[in-house]
Amino acid sequence: MRLAPSPTGTLHIGTARTAVFNWLFARRQGGEFLLRIEDTDRERSRPEYTANILEGLQWLGLHWDGEPVVQSARIGEHRAAIQQLLDSGQAYRCFATEAELTAMRDQQAASKQAPRYDNRHRQLTAEQQQTFIAEGREATVRFKIDDDATITWSDLVRGDMRWSGSDLGGDMVIARRAPADQIGDPLYNLVVVVDDIAMAISHVIRGEDHIANTAKQLLLYAALGTEPPIFAHTPLILNQEGKKLSKRDGVTSVSDFQAMGYTPEALANYMTLLGWSPPEGMGERFTLAEAATVFDFERVNRAGARFDWDKLNWLNGQVLHELGPDALRQQLLPLWAAQGWGTAPGPAQADPTWQADLCSLIGPSLSLLADGVEQARPFFTTPELQESASSQLASEGARPALAALLERLPEGPLSADQAQTLLTEAATAAGVKKGVIMKSLRAALLGSLQGPDLLATWLLLHRSGDDRARIARCL
Ligand code: GLU
Repeated sequence: MRLAPSPTGTLHIGTARTAVFNWLFARRQGGEFLLRIEDTDRERSRPEYTANILEGLQWLGLHWDGEPVVQSARIGEHRAAIQQLLDSGQAYRCFATEAELTAMRDQQAASKQAPRYDNRHRQLTAEQQQTFIAEGREATVRFKIDDDATITWSDLVRGDMRWSGSDLGGDMVIARRAPADQIGDPLYNLVVVVDDIAMAISHVIRGEDHIANTAKQLLLYAALGTEPPIFAHTPLILNQEGKKLSKRDGVTSVSDFQAMGYTPEALANYMTLLGWSPPEGMGERFTLAEAATVFDFERVNRAGARFDWDKLNWLNGQVLHELGPDALRQQLLPLWAAQGWGTAPGPAQADPTWQADLCSLIGPSLSLLADGVEQARPFFTTPELQESASSQLASEGARPALAALLERLPEGPLSADQAQTLLTEAATAAGVKKGVIMKSLRAALLGSLQGPDLLATWLLLHRSGDDRARIARCL
């Protein structure tokens, strides 16, 4: 198995999902998961994209075996394979100029034919070749594709596949234009085949946008006298409208998801579900290692997989809940520190136990890590009173009840039982129902009528010494 990303952009979610399927299948089969950086597009490939791809795969836990193969370093092997095809007469030099090819395609368009190369230089005599060379023309190398060839393979996802040579656009360019005594830059379909052979790849698992390439590549395997690998073409990832997920959809890079606060566990879990259905009873929350024990292509759908933010958010919440308070605290500390919270030694808010208790309180309602900043905010800074809170505090009996509570509030520690008793006593003293004092206390402490469990909230704010001033400001 291998992943063969082109470093012409950051690690795309589609490539990452392909990586997940390769990784799972390799682990399931006890095979190897290899990495090849396809950097032959010299203009668009950049080292920072390679770095981003490697980091993204590692972040997701998709560790590869061995050293990554760098495709551009293998140009000698690619040229040797092209030479072999030229020598065996399965490839030839084509001297057609860009202008001639454009004219050919314009003509095809005018007569409503599909664009294809008309194989015009397949049978050039040595003399004709000499004439072109004397004119100073350069040549591409084309691989012969017979119109009557039939290409079949059994795809692990799509079943029996059948292509006709006549649907492949005529003889295929495998090396860019160069002086006729040289071989120009080798092109994608050729180099992929040469490298997959050299790397002894048994299974090629990649997106279904490569299906037409597979047909061409199978002809190259045959021409090079090698058995082809097994192919699995995975369904595309679609956006909410059912169209192929593209840059226009905004978030498409693994690093974007990382920056948004998704955990690698949730994203890897979610990508596994993009096209694969877990067996009955497994549920949808699982680790990559768990999925690897059951992954197979029979459960990969042919239809495109629609991206579902709600499911990703739900999974991320699950992962955060599983972390437990201490691990969650570790993850939140840098985000809190960025707000200037919880770092100064001394105050209760910098106490790891207080912080872990805060995490126990807010943990269950987090779906993104960033929610842990918003929900922790009223514990680190005094919140403004929202309108709903102000009107609660203006309601009958609210202020007398809070005043009665404040009178009884101890300076020292407060237990949950004591806190309950205080609420009952203050409500009785002010002649209000317990619900009134509870709602008013929430309004005073959090500035809002929403929030986590009231008693636990109050006890935390008591420990940090913040409850008194927040109640007092409302009187
Ligand atoms: N480099 C190709 C791409 O990024 C993948 C080639 C392959 O998997 O065969 O789309």
